[in-house]
Amino acid sequence: NEFNRYALSEEILEALKGLGYKEPTSIQREVILPMLAGKNVVVKAPTGSGKTAAFAIPICEGVRWEENAPQALVLEPTRELAVQVSEEMFHIGRKKRLKVPAVFGGFPIDKQIQTLRQKSHIVTGTPGRIMDHLGGESLKLDKVKWLVIDEADLMLDMGFIEEVKNILSLVPENSRICLFSATLRPEIQELANEYIPDNILVLQ
Ligand code: AMP
Repeated sequence: NEFNRYALSEEILEALKGLGYKEPTSIQREVILPMLAGKNVVVKAPTGSGKTAAFAIPICEGVRWEENAPQALVLEPTRELAVQVSEEMFHIGRKKRLKVPAVFGGFPIDKQIQTLRQKSHIVTGTPGRIMDHLGGESLKLDKVKWLVIDEADLMLDMGFIEEVKNILSLVPENSRICLFSATLRPEIQELANEYIPDNILVLQ
């Protein structure tokens, strides 16, 4: 099993086995090692390529359970994607007992505030609602080590780019930034050039 070569913890390897992930997909082969080494990545990959696990595996590996504050923030364009990615990250981090709440608009904010008050290691969500939580101080970014911008081209199409840039300016300066997109059209490349220094480019 090629996953065994990545020096992942037993908890993560067991979780992958439980999910039936026997070998990394080609995108995972190119993304996991650079992310484990602390690199910024810009990845062109379609859905269905296993891109969620490509960032979820290194992030779940690196997150410390003891730290009682979000260490990774994953931006998604829709509620459905936020929930889906939160579930996959929960499964990959299950043996480490990682908490991965999802926050999104169109849903009462109070419940999300309560959930965020409990331990939350990784937060997934839509940019607008994340900004609301930041404004209300129910979400704090000072312990964040990874920011993932998933589905960047959809994010652009849905008009979330200003919020994404806002959030990029709010994460701690030494955070790892990882961008995933089905296309790398000029607006996305500009965003990457401006906000994601020294990135490793992965094209699938
Ligand atoms: P995604 O591209 O992240 O939406 O993933 C597509 C599907 O592939 C999801 O249902 C994952 O659960 C599955 N998947 C991800 N990584 C692997 C793997 N290494 N082996 C088998 N299935 C995988």
